[in-house]
Amino acid sequence: MCFGVRDAIALAVEQAEAGPLTILGDLVHNPTVLGALEAKGIAVARDVGEVKTPTLMVTAHGTSERSLARTRALGLRVVEATCPLVHVAHRAVAALRRDGYHVVIVGQRDHVEVRGLTDDLDGFDVVLEEDDVLALEEHPRIGVAAQTTQPVERVRHLVALIRRRFPQSDVRFLDTVCKPTKERQSAAVEMARQADVVIVVGGRSSNNTRELVRSCAQYCARVHHVQTDADVRPEWFDAANVVGLTAGTSTPDDVIDRVESRIRLCADAPFEALPRSDQATWRRPT
Ligand code: SF4
Repeated sequence: MCFGVRDAIALAVEQAEAGPLTILGDLVHNPTVLGALEAKGIAVARDVGEVKTPTLMVTAHGTSERSLARTRALGLRVVEATCPLVHVAHRAVAALRRDGYHVVIVGQRDHVEVRGLTDDLDGFDVVLEEDDVLALEEHPRIGVAAQTTQPVERVRHLVALIRRRFPQSDVRFLDTVCKPTKERQSAAVEMARQADVVIVVGGRSSNNTRELVRSCAQYCARVHHVQTDADVRPEWFDAANVVGLTAGTSTPDDVIDRVESRIRLCADAPFEALPRSDQATWRRPT
């Protein structure tokens, strides 16, 4: 788990012990974590209008100034669990706007973090694919920032494409992809290059988990996305010598540990563990 998610969960638990708490949206995109928070009596609302507690928590994904003001105007106390690295992205977007750039975000248009980054802007674009860049209009100044969990290679590729498409424009790029995402992505790619099978653990709606799946799939033909150990199938490991395991930044350690145990069971042979930081790679002894 990255520090941003871990701190947000700790803050939610601390606040819930002090009084009734509602979280606006999913604190993290992981069903195991959400179930644990629900068990502690923490409510989740999809809209501020549904909130029935005096205190409302904004998730690690952050929100806009406009939304904060709207919430406070309703008389709610707001607790912000916004990750500091999402705040960095907000400051980058504000700087681009202040300096007269038309803001372009590389990310998923409907993702809560991207909505938070763009809600205070009057004009902006969101791009995720090459086709989105082709649909952009020309502006004399274009300022690009990214959703924190986007693969940095994709972001750089799209920035290069924007520069090629608008050679007359001043294109400024502020790299707001967070460090834990960058480190995990590059470690996962390195692992996928060596593995016969890769298992990625994380919530189905977790952006960084899905991006890990996509990146690993470029280097390994057998990549499986699981939410828990119950999703792991024994037949995935047929004739596999090396199994790689990695996880999205919102996946709890105990969920990963249970997946690891299940893989070892399914593979039906002892594996020699090779130490790694965020991931583990096992090679079947010959
Ligand atoms: S993925 Fe990055 S930006 Fe998101 S909570 Fe974790 S550290 Fe913060």
